[in-house]
Amino acid sequence: MSSHVLHRNSLVQPPRAVAGDGIYIIDANGKRYLDASGGAAVSCLGHSDPDVRAAIIEQVGKLAYAHSGFFSSDPMEELADDLIAHAPAGMEKVYFVSGGSEAVEAALKMARQYFLELGEPDRKFVIARRQSYHGNTLGALSVGGNMWRRRQFEPLLIDASHVSPCYAYRDQQANETAEQYGLRVANELEEAILTLGTGRVAAFVAEPVVGATSGAVAAVPGYFKRIREICDRYGVLLILDEVMCGMGRTGTLHAIEQEGISGDLQTIAKGLGAGYQPIGAVLVSGKIDRAIASGSGFFQHGHTYQGHATACAAALATQRAIRDRDLLANVNIQGENLQNALTAQFANHPYIGDIRGRGLFRGVEFVADRATKEPFDPARKINAKIKKTAFANGLMCYPMGGTIDGQLGDHVLFAPPYIVSDEQIGDIVSLFAKTVDQVFAAEGL
Ligand code: PLP
Repeated sequence: MSSHVLHRNSLVQPPRAVAGDGIYIIDANGKRYLDASGGAAVSCLGHSDPDVRAAIIEQVGKLAYAHSGFFSSDPMEELADDLIAHAPAGMEKVYFVSGGSEAVEAALKMARQYFLELGEPDRKFVIARRQSYHGNTLGALSVGGNMWRRRQFEPLLIDASHVSPCYAYRDQQANETAEQYGLRVANELEEAILTLGTGRVAAFVAEPVVGATSGAVAAVPGYFKRIREICDRYGVLLILDEVMCGMGRTGTLHAIEQEGISGDLQTIAKGLGAGYQPIGAVLVSGKIDRAIASGSGFFQHGHTYQGHATACAAALATQRAIRDRDLLANVNIQGENLQNALTAQFANHPYIGDIRGRGLFRGVEFVADRATKEPFDPARKINAKIKKTAFANGLMCYPMGGTIDGQLGDHVLFAPPYIVSDEQIGDIVSLFAKTVDQVFAAEGL
C-alpha cells in the first residue's frame, strides 16, 4: 500500500482494483464487486470489452497522441462524424475535451464568446437549477446547484442564478397536473430572465435527467418544451448537460430525444468513452459554430489533451459497440426489469419513498416518513451507510444526499452497464435488499 496517494477521503484506504470481468470489478484480495452504478454512470460496456481494448491497442501502435494545436487525427475526425450523424437536430460540430467538467467549462465559455461575436457583451449571466450537478471545476461548480459542494468555495465562484428543479416527487402540488406543474417550474426561468434583465442572460443550463444530486429525476412532460420556448423568446442559449444521462443511459442515445427538443450546446462525457479512456465533448449547434467561425474564427479556450487520439479511438469503438450490438434495446428491457424488480421488492418499504428513472438510470429515494416524504436527518448519513454496507456486500451503488440547505434527500443511483443480464438484475436487487435491511436494522428502525 502506498502512503503517498492523496485519496479523496484520507480516512479510508479503498481496496485496490486489479481486474475487470464484464460487470464486475475484482480487487487485490480477489473480492468481486457487482458494478451496479457503472462507477458514476460511466462504465456502460462493463470492464473487459474486447473491441474497445483492441481499438486502444491499435491506436497506440500507430500514434497515441498528437497535440491538437498542431494536428487533427483519424480517430478524432471519425468520432466527430459518428457523433454528428446521431446527434440531436441542429448539432453540427464537436469540441472534444477530457471529461465532464471540462465539457461544461467549454460550453459556458462558448456561450459567452457567441454573444461577444454577436456584439452583445452584456449577456454574461448564466441561470441553472438547484439540486443539479455540473462538475467540480470552478465554472462548473458555479452553475451547479448542490449547495453542499459549493459552500466552502463560494468566494471563488462566478455569479450564477438558480431556479427550481423539475422534481415532481418532491414538489408537484396535489391540486396541479404534471403538465401544470411542469409549466409552473419552467416559468421560473422566465421570471429569472426578467429579473436579471432581458439582453443580460447568456445561457440556461440543465441536466435532462438529473443524476448525482437527485438520483435519476426526469422532468415531467412538457417542461423542456416550455424551457425551449422561453430560451428562444429571450435569445438565451440552452445548454443541456448530458454528461451523466447521455450516450444511451436513459434508453435513447441522448436523453433529450425523449423531450422532443434540442439544445444549442450539449455536453457529453461518461458513456462516451465508457471509462476506457477519459473523454468528454460539447456538441455545438450550427448557429454557434457559424457565429464564431465568421467572427473571430478562434474559440478562445483549449486543453492539452483535447481530441486525444487514443481516447477518441476508444470512444469510437464504444459508440460502435453500443450500436452494432443493439445495446439500447437491452438498456430499455433491463431498465424496465430493474424498475419492476425494485418496485416489487420495496413497494411497501416504510423508508423508501420513490423509485424512478429511465432506461438503466434508476434512483431510489429514502424518506423518514412515506406519507409526509420527510427526509432523514442528514446526521444519520443514511446514503453513506447504504454505500458502505452495499460495498461490503460486493455491490456498487452511487449514493448522494443528506438534507443540506433544505435541498437534498437521501438517495442511491443505479446505472449498471448496458450489457447487464436478467440474472444480474436479480443479483443487484437482492444484494441491495440485503443492504437496506442491514442498514435499517443497525439504525434500530
Ligand atoms: N455534469 C454532470 C451532469 C455530471 O453528472 C458530472 C459528473 O458526475 C459532471 C458534469 C462532471 O463530470 P466529471 O466528473 O467528468 O468532471
